Amino acid sequence: MGAAGFPSCCWTRRFFPRDKVCGDGLAPQALYWLEILGCVDEVLEQTRSFCVQGDIYLNGKQVLREMFPQNTPYPGFSVLLPRRKLDHILVRNAVFHGALFRPGCRVKGLRWFPDGIVVEAVEDQGPVHFKARLVIGADGANSVITRCIGNRVMRGATAVSLRGYYRGACLNGPPIRVYFDERSFPGYGWVFVDDEGMANVGIGYAFDEKFPVKPNLKSMFHRFTQEDLKESLKFEEAIEKPKGGGLPFTGTRPWWRSGSW
Ligand SMILES: Cc1cc2nc3c(=O)[nH]c(=O)nc-3n(C[C@H](O)[C@H](O)[C@H](O)COP(=O)(O)OP(=O)(O)OC[C@H]3O[C@@H](n4cnc5c(N)ncnc54)[C@H](O)[C@@H]3O)c2cc1C
Repeated sequence: MGAAGFPSCCWTRRFFPRDKVCGDGLAPQALYWLEILGCVDEVLEQTRSFCVQGDIYLNGKQVLREMFPQNTPYPGFSVLLPRRKLDHILVRNAVFHGALFRPGCRVKGLRWFPDGIVVEAVEDQGPVHFKARLVIGADGANSVITRCIGNRVMRGATAVSLRGYYRGACLNGPPIRVYFDERSFPGYGWVFVDDEGMANVGIGYAFDEKFPVKPNLKSMFHRFTQEDLKESLKFEEAIEKPKGGGLPFTGTRPWWRSGSW
């Protein structure tokens, strides 16, 4: 977090490298921005997968195969890179460009003063405070910072998901597949496989007040891997138990707050 006279500081509650539940797919647009940030080369060195096309399945049948668009400002491919690696590259890149990195530091709140903002946080040793001219909240879907400026985050639709990794996956055709199925509507499954047969497999599902049906994610995941993916995955090759992730879809406003409050 930086402005004239203040060093940039990045607080994060976790230590790195760390996993995050994700499909690990980096779309062409993401690669474009990674280049602007100055770390696309490291991402491309570490990926084991360059994908130029993907498939869409509907009720078990492949209905669409498309290439990523060529001749746009973006690259004509996507890559896969586990978040454990990608996020660590991003952190190292931020530090290389001068950010002070404070892992294991959980931000709890903000206080506004005439000459700046105090970030209140907690580390293992106890509470800590930092003064800043500008605070950027990049703390994810359940952002503390957005709540501090008056937003409620759990208001709209919420997505829940399960993701697992499998070795030895074998797909005929494109390594990116997305599956829609009336039995798991409104949700979808995906399988993304790298060149060494490592598959990132997941399902996600959304619900809200108007559509409150909460799925049994474990049984959806089981059916997805056992039925839709039975030709390409072997269950015994699971690397770990599937992990869950949640994602509130909240169109938050306001986006910023200034002045002393
Ligand atoms: C199952 C699933 C699959 C997905 N698949 C894909 C995909 O294939 N491709 C894709 O592009 N996107 C995918 N996404 C979406 C993607 O994960 C998010 O859009 C992306 O992670 C958002 O980035 P972010 O930096 O805003 O938040 P995050 O990645 O959530 O990062 C927020 C950071 O802030 C830290 N933090 C949170 N609270 C605090 C606090 N109080 N104090 C200090 N630090 C804090 C967290 O520890 C974390 O490091 C997927 C999401 C899910 C749930």
